[in-house]
Amino acid sequence: MRVLVLGAGQLARMMSLSSTHLGIEVLAYDVGTKQVINPVTLDVSNSTLAQEVERAYAITAEFEHIPDDVLAVCESSGKFYPGAQSIATGGDRSKEKALLDKSQVPCAPYALITEKSHFLAAVEQLGMPLVIKTCQAGYDGKGQWRLKSKDEVEQIWSEMASFIASGTHSAPHSIIAEKMIPFDREVSIIGVRSKDGECKVYPLTENQHTNGVLTLSVAGKEKAAIQSQAESAFEKLASALDYVGVLAIEFFDVGGQLLVNEIAPRVHNSGHWTQQGCHTSQFENHMRAITGLPVGCTQLVRPTAMINVLGQSAIPHSVLAVPGCTSHWYGKDAKPGRKMGHINVSAESLHQLGERLAELAELLPEDDYPGVQETSHALILN
Ligand code: ATP
Ligand code: MG
Repeated sequence: MRVLVLGAGQLARMMSLSSTHLGIEVLAYDVGTKQVINPVTLDVSNSTLAQEVERAYAITAEFEHIPDDVLAVCESSGKFYPGAQSIATGGDRSKEKALLDKSQVPCAPYALITEKSHFLAAVEQLGMPLVIKTCQAGYDGKGQWRLKSKDEVEQIWSEMASFIASGTHSAPHSIIAEKMIPFDREVSIIGVRSKDGECKVYPLTENQHTNGVLTLSVAGKEKAAIQSQAESAFEKLASALDYVGVLAIEFFDVGGQLLVNEIAPRVHNSGHWTQQGCHTSQFENHMRAITGLPVGCTQLVRPTAMINVLGQSAIPHSVLAVPGCTSHWYGKDAKPGRKMGHINVSAESLHQLGERLAELAELLPEDDYPGVQETSHALILN
């Protein structure tokens, strides 16, 4: 079976690596260069998008910001999962909020902004501080402003106005202002929904972000009450979208109540730990779901943490000498802050996971790998 992935980055690569053993062959379409490539070897094929859409058994995407003409070709093939509507919802925060409201899943109080009067009204109604985000672009904390005092309104509005003005009639730009949530921590849930509507959900993951980018995830330490809130949100949202494949939902945990931050209609960085922590990884399950194969077990096999490698051209080889530890390398050229790979470390207990993270903290400088030491202490003390 052949699967075409829109986008040719590390997620396409890991989808390929996780499904070769099932007899699935993956090709990727780079929407920037308009080339079809093998996402593992990076060999370029001389076939066209139209030919690959025709040949593919199923088509999927590794990101949300896909040109409309490409989406239209894939959607009309009848083989595109999770489908253009889900991709469009994940790629536009205003559509995402509409889905959350319709599905009665709680999120941060918000206001949509397309002109200055909306912005001034949002400052009055929601209060400050505000997190202001572009609706149609942005990832890893890009395309965001923080409004802390009224002195900043004019400056931030001038930057917002140029984003709104860069929209077009057929693809308008808008902005969302959200109340800044004083959360205790950030968590996410990854789940998979099959073609016949069966949902399986992985254990909740606790995530740490540094400058808006995910740096560390830990899975396997959550209580049943919070897990069931996240599962209920997953089932409501995945059913409302008639979703097929893996869907990720990021939440703020505020005193044990989960508020959705955002959804991602794809495999997600906060689910990379499933490669070592579960029977069936998020990548394999996504490929199984979109090709109509039975979806695999999502239960935790062992507590696992994931550490992102950002901007480094290599990791110390000694990391692999830590028991239960492995790395996944994406084969990209190093640039500051770029996601280059990740390290997964598993253990038989949370205490042992803490000890292994302490060993890793000796090898990985805090400036480049924030939070490893602190997380290890918290797990050991728990
Ligand atoms: P991603 O790479 O996850 O897609 P993104 O650029 O789409 O990131 P968000 O996840 O919306 O952006 O925001 C990035 C981070 O900013 C969040 O993980 C959170 O730490 C912080 N943040 C976003 N919205 C709020 C909010 N309303 N209140 C408090 N913090 C927020
Ligand atoms: Mg996010």
